[in-house]
Amino acid sequence: MTARTISIFGATGSVGTSTLDLVRRDRQAYAVQALTAHGDVDGLAKLAREFDAKLAVIADERRYEDLKTALSGTGTRVAAGKQALVDAADMDPDWTMAAIVGCAGLEPTMAAIEHGRTVALANKESLVSAGALMMAAVERSGATLLPVDSEHNALFQCLAGGRIADVRRLILTASGGPFRDWTRERMKAVTPAQAVAHPNWSMGAKISVDSATMMNKGLELIEAFHLFPVGEERIDILVHPQSVVHSMVEYKDCSTLAQMGPTDMKVPIASALAWPARIETGCGPLDLAAVGRLDFEAPDEDRFPALRLARAALRQGGTAPATLNAANEVAVAAFLGGRIAFLDIAALVERVLDAADIAPPSGLQDIFTVDRSIRARMSELVGEYCGGD
Ligand code: NAD
Ligand code: MG
Repeated sequence: MTARTISIFGATGSVGTSTLDLVRRDRQAYAVQALTAHGDVDGLAKLAREFDAKLAVIADERRYEDLKTALSGTGTRVAAGKQALVDAADMDPDWTMAAIVGCAGLEPTMAAIEHGRTVALANKESLVSAGALMMAAVERSGATLLPVDSEHNALFQCLAGGRIADVRRLILTASGGPFRDWTRERMKAVTPAQAVAHPNWSMGAKISVDSATMMNKGLELIEAFHLFPVGEERIDILVHPQSVVHSMVEYKDCSTLAQMGPTDMKVPIASALAWPARIETGCGPLDLAAVGRLDFEAPDEDRFPALRLARAALRQGGTAPATLNAANEVAVAAFLGGRIAFLDIAALVERVLDAADIAPPSGLQDIFTVDRSIRARMSELVGEYCGGD
């Protein structure tokens, strides 16, 4: 059997390392081409050596010499910078994992899609910002997009063998995050450490904060809208604190299919890596007797306004989702850096969205322009909030 060639964008992150955990279980089955990271030279070099990667790319150009030194004497080629990330997609492997966090992943993800092969998509922000353009590129190139986000992977599995035309509703489940039953008053004093401590999942810092504000579910609503063309009004959100049911598809005959599994991203990643086959993950199977009960409740958009903002941005269309995403990325970074309070995240995003000029994007350049200008505007606002530093 010839090994499948794979590349991982965002190899040092939570999804990236979970993907490599799966590769480690069956080394003969895969040949690793490109591995990328932002600034973690040591982490990237270690992985590149272990997996004998053909190419290692560090996005932060200033770390080029360090990476070169760290990989000297190996067969791994070294590159640095944003363009090198995009160029890495030209290696055109059989399977690409898009697991960079944020809109920074948009260009390399689009480049991988343009090659028309298989792209496993974890980088939801790229789809939120440029969903219509990305899905048009998938159509044009004939690429296969496999959703990795656990909810979308669940929907993808529940839709296998079904027809989109027969869907009555998609039901995205949400854990509700660490502050699910907190009052707004109590949320005022939330610290970054509290916000990143997700009750069910172990994830990178940005998505953990997004889960705490429930912006994550808002971004996932927009993600689902692009991946599964049923219309925004047919996508519901349901809070399910146990995170056992990862999402559901309700068909027109009132049959509802749910996908369940342990709260370990290796399960949806394995589904995308082996699709349509199945592989071992090493995860402990779901023990429903131990879980005992499954609870469901409606989301509360008053306590979690990010949900309302995301749906409004989706309805508005054009560059509104890219605006929402860019504003949120800056706000989350500012919160993690101790510069704004937890409740300021959604409040600032709303302010920026209200003031933004929204237009239909004619191409990726328009998305980048919006992304840059909204980041600049948000940075100013954050500066005002914390005394103009
Ligand atoms: P993470 O922060 O753990 O890792 C992010 C990766 O992207 C790292 O390898 C980092 O080096 C790289 N990166 C960060 N900024 C970059 C930049 N500016 N340029 C190039 N590379 C950069 O994040 P994660 O939790 O693994 O999440 C990755 C993506 O997957 C996100 O879009 C997230 O929403 C999505 N996702 C994650 C999970 C999860 O369980 N972690 C679940 C569902 C979806
Ligand atoms: Mg998710």
